[in-house]
This record gives sequence, C-alpha cells and structure tokens, in this order.
Amino acid sequence: MTDFAATKAMFDLPQGMTYLDGNSLGPLPRTAAARVAQAITDEWGQMLIGGWNRAGWMDLPRKLGDRIAALIGAEAGHVVLGDTLSIKLYQALASALDMRPTRRVILSDTGNFPSDLYMATGLCRTLGDGYVLKTVAPENVAEAIDDSVAVLMLTEADYRTGRRHDMAALTRAAHGAGALTVWDLAHSAGAFPVHLAACGADFAVGCTYKYLNSGPGGPAFIYVAPRHANTARPALSGWLGHEAPFAFDLDYRAGAGIDRMRVGTPPILQLAALEAALDVWNGVDLNDLRAASQALMDQYIAGVEAACPDLILATPREHDARGSQVSFRHSQAYAIMQAMIARGVVGDFRAPDVIRCGFTPLFIDAGDVVRAVGVIADIMQNQLWDNPAYQTRAKVT
Ligand SMILES: *Cc1c(COP(=O)(O)O)cnc(C)c1O
Repeated sequence: MTDFAATKAMFDLPQGMTYLDGNSLGPLPRTAAARVAQAITDEWGQMLIGGWNRAGWMDLPRKLGDRIAALIGAEAGHVVLGDTLSIKLYQALASALDMRPTRRVILSDTGNFPSDLYMATGLCRTLGDGYVLKTVAPENVAEAIDDSVAVLMLTEADYRTGRRHDMAALTRAAHGAGALTVWDLAHSAGAFPVHLAACGADFAVGCTYKYLNSGPGGPAFIYVAPRHANTARPALSGWLGHEAPFAFDLDYRAGAGIDRMRVGTPPILQLAALEAALDVWNGVDLNDLRAASQALMDQYIAGVEAACPDLILATPREHDARGSQVSFRHSQAYAIMQAMIARGVVGDFRAPDVIRCGFTPLFIDAGDVVRAVGVIADIMQNQLWDNPAYQTRAKVT
C-alpha cells in the first residue's frame, strides 16, 4: 500500500490551508527548492556553458520524459519535455493531420479546454485548404467519428466538469474510421493510471505543473507512438529536433524518434524542479492513488450534498466516468469560491458557474475533506458568500 502520509510530508504546504487546487498548480515539493538552488549555484554558476554536457542538461528532456512515460503507460524513449502544452498540442495536431493528407476535419468536443480549440483553429487557418475544427457535445463524440475525420483531438478529463472520456473505446473508434488520435492528458497525468500504449493512442500531450507538481511555467510533454515516431513530420522544426543540431546544416532533417519533437533550448531550472517533483512518485502505486482519490471524491460529494442542497453536482458519480476533481454549480460560484479561499480552502472558480476542487491524495487526506466540507457548509448555510469583497474578479480566476 502506498504511504500517503509519507507523500504528504514531502510537500511544503502553508499552515492552515486546505489546498484543493493541485489540479491547477501543484504545491511545492520540499526538495525542489534545494534542487533548483543546486542547478543555479553548482551547475549554472560553476559549470556555465559546460553544464549542457557535464550536468546533463541536454538529456534532461528525455530522461524526465522516461519517468513521465512510466506514469502514463507509455513506452520508454517515446516522451519528451519542452515548451507549453498549447505548443505541444499544436505540434502533435500538425503532425497527425500531415499523416492523413486526404482528410480535412479535426473532431473535438465543446467541453475541451479553450486553448486546445484555439490552437486547432489557428492551425486550420494557417493550413487553409478546407481544414476545419468540428466540435460536438462530449457525449456525442463517438457517433460523430466518420471517415471525414483526420484527427480526433480530445482532453481525457474535462477541465470544468471532471467528466472522463473512454480513451480505449474512442481510440478504437477513431482507428476504425481511419482517423488518428491526439489525447490531452492535462488532467490525467498524475491524477489516475493512464494506459497510452495499451489504448493504442497515436499522440498525447500534457503539462507538468498540475498533478505532477513542477511549479508555475513547468514544461509540457509530448508522446508519439513508436509506430509513428520516425515518420511523424514536426511542423515546429526547431534546431534541437534536427538529426544533428550541432552540424548547423542549412537544411532540416528530423531527428530520430521522439527527439524530433524537441524545438528549442530546454528550460533547465524548471526541469530541475520537475526532477525533484518526480521523486515523490517513487513509492506511489497509481492504483492506490486512484482508489484514494475516488474515496476522497465520494466523501466530498456526500458531505457537500448533505449540507448544501443548492449546490448542483456537475461531475459524474460513476467512478470510471470522472477524473480526479469534483465540480458543483451555483449562480454565485465566484463569490462562494472567494469565501472559501478567505477561510483557507483553496479551489478554483471556472466560468460561468463552477466551483472546482481537485483531489490529489499525494497531499490531501480525509481530514482535509472534512474541513473543506465544514467550510462550504458554513458559507452556504449562513450566506457568507454574500459580501461585496467576494465579487471583485482578479485577473486570474
Ligand atoms: C491547463 C491546460 C492547458 C494549458 O496550456 P498551457 O499552454 O500549458 O498554458 C491546455 N489544455 C488543457 C486541457 C489544460 O487543462
């Protein structure tokens, strides 16, 4: 059994705060500050440019990619870190479209994260030639897959409601129609077991600053299935994806395998933080993590529903149909969340009316859920949200 009291002790959480927002920005692993300080002082400070070889900086995106591969059911050697999720999504999508040259449709759903939809729209505009993004309601995705679809682009767990797509079934359906798949694992990697290889996923992307705790601005990752790794053509053909970056040739030749998905200079300080953050996973069994997160979510839903009849559950109750977050709807969701935060229970508001909390057993336990439910019950039963101070919206919600 995974020792979640031990993993909780690996995080530096502020006293008195119940942090139900690890799905937006993971907390600080205790060893990260020292690891980053070492990268700054010993590596950058003392090795300077020699750090690229002597400190292994150039290999970090692949080395840490292998550690993430183990968390998402991917083959070792087929995940690399770099850039942001929006960029990695664009890259995966462009490569996938290129592999289905006679088709013009990207199929996604209306619950997808806007950045994914914006990137797809931008790519269609750049390609011209009839490329379109088609979105349908999440529950209608399966029936919308037909032989016009080049790429099925989905986020596995819906950022707003927590609803989870069936990756295996939808990948099978896409392949049956001759389409490829791009899976966004933003709310999957580190949240529950993912089985990319077993599902036959073609491309996948995800971020590390949510459930993987790499810190604000931590790099994204990209996976390309081994069967496509040497044929996928990168649209963002930067020098570090070249077969021989230091030959400085004038013509681009894609590097071997996943290396071709690298673009430019990797963010070494962020990767150092990620390296420390990934150590937390060493003793963690992902099936234990999933069971613990389901129990926390069940406890939270039961507690909130019993105390707050005005809050409407937006997340599926069925275990397999949800990720690791629970959302409730209310017309005053923004003010309610501000009142929660003022009382030390941090989640986030998602427009237009969602109170979203993430359940991350690495550092959240049953006692935290009891506390959160108590605070929400107090706010709802005594209308504590009805305070002008909780109406002012900050830039980041
Ligand atoms: C968090 C999130 C993003 C953010 O993309 P960045 O480029 O890292 O800012 C994109 N897509 C989904 C589905 C997300 O949940």
